[in-house]
Amino acid sequence: MIPDKDEYPMEQLKCPRCGGRLLDIGTDSPKKVEMETKCPNCNNLVTAVWEPKKE
Ligand SMILES: [Zn+2]
Repeated sequence: MIPDKDEYPMEQLKCPRCGGRLLDIGTDSPKKVEMETKCPNCNNLVTAVWEPKKE
């Protein structure tokens, strides 16, 4: 059996404006991920940034 690897740990991204929960991301991307999205808390268009953890 090959272990299931299609699920990555979900991380919570916070809104840079209000600090509220923006979205959850699950990725194994080796690079920084940026996405523009509308915050459900403050309704501003913000850029969520996910950075790979250094191990
Ligand atoms: Zn916000």
